[in-house]
Amino acid sequence: MGEQIRTSLVRIPLVDLQAQHRVLCQQIHEAVARVLDGGRFILGEEVLAFEREFAEACEARYAVGTASGTAALHLAFASYGIGPGDEVITTPLTFIATWEAIACTGARAIFVDVDPETLTIDPAKLETAITSRTRAIVPVHLYGFPAAMEAILPVARRYGLRVIEDAAQAHGARSGGRAVGSMGDAGCFSFYPAKNLGACGDAGALVTHDGAIADRARRLRDHGRADKYVHLERGYGYRLDELQAAILRVKLGHLAAWNARRRELAKHYRRVLEGLPINLLPNKDEGVYHLFVIRSEARDALREHLWQQGIEAGIHYPLPLHLQPACAHLGYGRGDFPVAERAATEVLSLPLYPEMSPSMVEAVATAIQDFFDP
Ligand SMILES: *Cc1c(COP(=O)(O)O)cnc(C)c1O
Repeated sequence: MGEQIRTSLVRIPLVDLQAQHRVLCQQIHEAVARVLDGGRFILGEEVLAFEREFAEACEARYAVGTASGTAALHLAFASYGIGPGDEVITTPLTFIATWEAIACTGARAIFVDVDPETLTIDPAKLETAITSRTRAIVPVHLYGFPAAMEAILPVARRYGLRVIEDAAQAHGARSGGRAVGSMGDAGCFSFYPAKNLGACGDAGALVTHDGAIADRARRLRDHGRADKYVHLERGYGYRLDELQAAILRVKLGHLAAWNARRRELAKHYRRVLEGLPINLLPNKDEGVYHLFVIRSEARDALREHLWQQGIEAGIHYPLPLHLQPACAHLGYGRGDFPVAERAATEVLSLPLYPEMSPSMVEAVATAIQDFFDP
């Protein structure tokens, strides 16, 4: 920063989980104490109550608590009998877990490029990817914004495909008047601590209207158990635990207010960033801004500049899945999904969390302005 001495360097983190905990501390300690005193830690009252409450929040008939979002996705595929020889279509611009869960079943992931505006899976490109082996489509509601479900669902219906929503970044988002997670055959959520609804550790859930699928997911998450010593099929150790469920019940009550606050702060960002040579993603009222993402061809230098000023901007995601070393065996290469590849070089996530102040948003905008107009 030249000779300029910045004495008032403030750290603005991408997310601040301690700020949230300070507000909820007392309630969370009470919830944890309730579980510890009760002495029941696995599949008890708290998990049951959370499942009831989360299903209601998602406008779905059933919720099944799981050990993580990845486990929820894997269970959704497994419950629908997806496995070796099958193909599952998804986006290359997502967290690696979307692919991992598909791969866990033995099915093959087929990537389809994203829409250049929304960066969610491009429905116009879906049909060319469908083969006789295709079983499901996995739209990812990236950054808190619903994928184009109104276009995806009819294609899935026409070809008899399941739609498994990866809603790990979109708790509480809506699309066409419906809650995400409840529009497809199953919706999968992560409660990783930094998500819009986060546990104090790993946790997740699957929601569905289909009672048979909910039953099978419940069985599979608990070692295929029919009762204590009888196992109907090979399952997994994918249970949500009582402590996390009790904590999530406290936090679920705040989700709507937190999402409203995220939208307000995003609106403020849009106001203060106006006129700067950066691109914003489309604003949709029903999104929940898991991240506030801007685009710039000078992304890497801009990010470096922000970090030097204590502003911890992130990148989601710098390498699309088809270029990840872990996916090399799928045989994709550079140039296969140009829209996702270009986005990966341009996207930058600015700090955003409900406890952030408008003046922090302004400080971020000022730092961006400094970068373009020093
Ligand atoms: C966080 C996330 C997951 C995985 O969730 P975990 O709880 O970390 O297993 C899956 N998909 C997306 C899009 C995510 O952001």
